[in-house]
Amino acid sequence: MPEPAVSPGHADIVGQEEVCERLWGALEVERVHHCYLFEGPEGVGKATVALRFAMAANCESPSGPRPCTRCGPCQLIAAGRHPDVIRVCPDREKTTEVITVEQAREVIRVLALHRHSARRRFVLVDPADLLRVEATNALLKTFEEPPPFTTFLLITNRAGALLPTVLSRSFRVRFRTVGLPALEEWLSRRGVDEPSRVARLAFGSPGHALGLAEGRLEELDQACSDLLLALSGGTMSILAYAEKVGASPRTTWEKRMGLALDTLEMLLRDAGAIHAGWQGPLLAPANAEVARRWARSLGAGGLDGMDRALHEARARLQLNVSPRTVAEALLTRLAVELGPEGRKAGT
Ligand SMILES: [Zn+2]
Repeated sequence: MPEPAVSPGHADIVGQEEVCERLWGALEVERVHHCYLFEGPEGVGKATVALRFAMAANCESPSGPRPCTRCGPCQLIAAGRHPDVIRVCPDREKTTEVITVEQAREVIRVLALHRHSARRRFVLVDPADLLRVEATNALLKTFEEPPPFTTFLLITNRAGALLPTVLSRSFRVRFRTVGLPALEEWLSRRGVDEPSRVARLAFGSPGHALGLAEGRLEELDQACSDLLLALSGGTMSILAYAEKVGASPRTTWEKRMGLALDTLEMLLRDAGAIHAGWQGPLLAPANAEVARRWARSLGAGGLDGMDRALHEARARLQLNVSPRTVAEALLTRLAVELGPEGRKAGT
């Protein structure tokens, strides 16, 4: 059985040992930078390491440079309740998710006050790429010269979206995806079902892997059945499917489209692997026969083309193209390329 969800501060860290060593090392020699930029793919542990860094700086009984995770400050930081560890996130209630200039001014106001109890105060901005230009400009001077014993941790998976003025003021720490054997071993240790499949589906992201283990894998398998059924039913059923996954409100369609596109990616990767002669385990083993048919029907050129179309679909969604239009276009193209034989749903 998978473990219950853990808060980022308490989750164990996998695959970021090098990053942690550097951060703990900076604490040991008391050369902590005033503004770090934690950059790297989603779900690889940036926020977890950020909290752990704040713990390490304030722990009452560290073992070496590492935080104990059990003392008062460690527990408060993990629970998000330490008054000197300030988290700045976009307001999820608003339709456009941004970090506003009002939030930036509030940070500046709080930093002007004395620290409560921490040896070092931290401001976590997550994700930093959602800082509005005005908010960034309001904070620039503070990024450069925060009050004593204060460190900013800017977290992002889209460093390219940050203003150059922020990048130039930050000490950049790059997080990488986690290798397959390390991720699989970590998942096994946590008692996750199907650790090998989950690790391969997570593409090096422990956060994504935990999401899969906590129910997303089942949702993905269900989404896979729905997609194959729609494809096998011809044009009308594709249109009906696109309408259903693209239905508003945004949070609903984002989740459905995410599952649909991840499902398609999973099947295309399996088909590509089979086409290349792979005989090992597949990402969607229950649909091995479908993947074989796709490999035959699409061939190398068709698989490449669909892969590009899939990436374009993700990009178009980011550009606010209607999800229904994106789904319709993508599945219609796939259905045409697969032909009647390739579109069959079952074995
Ligand atoms: Zn501690």
